Amino acid sequence: MPPSEISDSASREREASQLALIHRIARLVAENIPLSERLRQIVRLLREHLGCALVACASIDRGSGRFRCEALDTELPSDVHIGYGRELGSGVVGEVAANGRTLYVADVALHPNYVETLPGTRSELCVAMRHHGEVMGVINAEALRANAFGTDIDLLETIAEQLAGMFATERLNREQSQRLQLLGMLSELSRTAIEADGLDEVLLRIARFLRERFALESVGVLLVEGKQPRLRFKAHAGNSVFHGRCGGDWPESLGVIGRAFRSGQSQYVADVIEDIDYVLGNPAVAAEYVLPVRLRGKLIGLLNLEASDPQSLSAVNRQMLDALAEQIAGAVHLAATNERLREINRLVEEKSAALGQANRHLREANRQLERLSHRDGLTGIANRRRFDEALALEWGRALRHGYSLALLLLDIDDFKSYNDSYGHLAGDDALRQVARALNEALGRAEDCVARYGGEEFAVLLPQSTLADAEPVAAHVAQAVARLALPHAASRAAPYLTVSIGVAALIPQVGLDALALVTRADGALYRAKTLGRNRIESAPTTLALTAT
Ligand code: GH3
Ligand code: MG
Ligand code: MG
Repeated sequence: MPPSEISDSASREREASQLALIHRIARLVAENIPLSERLRQIVRLLREHLGCALVACASIDRGSGRFRCEALDTELPSDVHIGYGRELGSGVVGEVAANGRTLYVADVALHPNYVETLPGTRSELCVAMRHHGEVMGVINAEALRANAFGTDIDLLETIAEQLAGMFATERLNREQSQRLQLLGMLSELSRTAIEADGLDEVLLRIARFLRERFALESVGVLLVEGKQPRLRFKAHAGNSVFHGRCGGDWPESLGVIGRAFRSGQSQYVADVIEDIDYVLGNPAVAAEYVLPVRLRGKLIGLLNLEASDPQSLSAVNRQMLDALAEQIAGAVHLAATNERLREINRLVEEKSAALGQANRHLREANRQLERLSHRDGLTGIANRRRFDEALALEWGRALRHGYSLALLLLDIDDFKSYNDSYGHLAGDDALRQVARALNEALGRAEDCVARYGGEEFAVLLPQSTLADAEPVAAHVAQAVARLALPHAASRAAPYLTVSIGVAALIPQVGLDALALVTRADGALYRAKTLGRNRIESAPTTLALTAT
């Protein structure tokens, strides 16, 4: 075969195998297996096809400005591994990742930005995976001989285009599922907060929720409290030496938390060892994120999130956490408001219970006062005021019904000399005994016995005529006499006696109750003048006009 035909058939063969490769990769791209697995198989196919030392595929994280190795195929020892990464711009891969242009380094010795990761590499080809102008990642191939990839540039660019589509779809899917996840978490968080009983429990639930969902080492919730705002450690979940600080103040000068509080800005620490403010607590912690919780723009707290796996606090997760922080602010606000409401309710209940109690006491005191104001302090029987009320009442009733109303006025005989002889205390005691005797002598409940003043008593007998009242007067006088209180100085008897004036009236319109008193008083006066220790009655006939 002539040499031209040989090269023709060789190039046809190469084209055929390139087409087969593109076809196989297209099938892999569409396969329903995890991205990492598809990439693993793709880089293996590529290296097989290229017959080179290493093929790798990297993604780009614009947030951190780095590229990251996602898949790798080599049989030689290399610094590169899955997860390996450097800044954009660093080395051949970094350069392509940054500017999106294919870079073929036929001899690495001549390329100043070459970073050796596979010892002995002589040439390297790196192409960008571009989707709508955006660089999604890069594919690179390395060979141990110079000028190894001259004929493979087009092929690799075609495959890079296929992979770019795959990366873009994957990112879209990831974003969508993250959005779904976030939505789920938002509603779960709301439910958690609503179900909790009190602010402390809400905070604890939030801390536990975040720790679990983001696989964090520890979560601390701090609230800004007081008129002079201070940070207080309110809830905690996970492993941290700050556990014991729960309930206590957090100094605003301390740690990454303090920095977030002072600045009001979220603080992301990708590597805690490198942060001068980081307070070493749990040695397992690699990354920390402190984010402000704001309610209508006002800082109400901070979330302190610590992770042993930095991926827990990846850019995507931090974005989700930022969104959750708003929800948390709402939940905290709701719980705090509820708690205040409960406290107000409790106070109101307490106050109204106390008020009820006070009212009962007041009513009791009033009743007592009333009783006291109607009672004579010395003898305990009705006083003059009560008598006047009873008289007016009974007068009115008798007037309405045409009944007769009777009154006895009693006066202890020679009581001044009793006091003089036996002393004032004995006089008081005698007054008490007379009062009791009067009370006991009266049979009817409606009869009213009162201390009229000094050593004088009055007995009101409703529905009684003079004829009814006179025996009562005699009975009463006897009751006093039966006390047999010695009274040597009395002019009437050697014991204590009373004089009684009796009067009875059928009330008439135009006649005053005072008329009854005046008449009884007149009779009493007569009893006194006629020698005391006796009963006198007012005349039964009443000259209405005369009084
Ligand atoms: P008469 O037979 O004319 O009624 O003579 P009397 O001494 O009883 O009358 P008088 O009005 O001169 O005196 C009444 C006395 O009653 C004078 C007063 O000291 C005494 N008295 C009035 N209230 C009390 C009291 O609450 N306790 C005592 N111990 N004495 C009283
Ligand atoms: Mg008197
Ligand atoms: Mg007297």
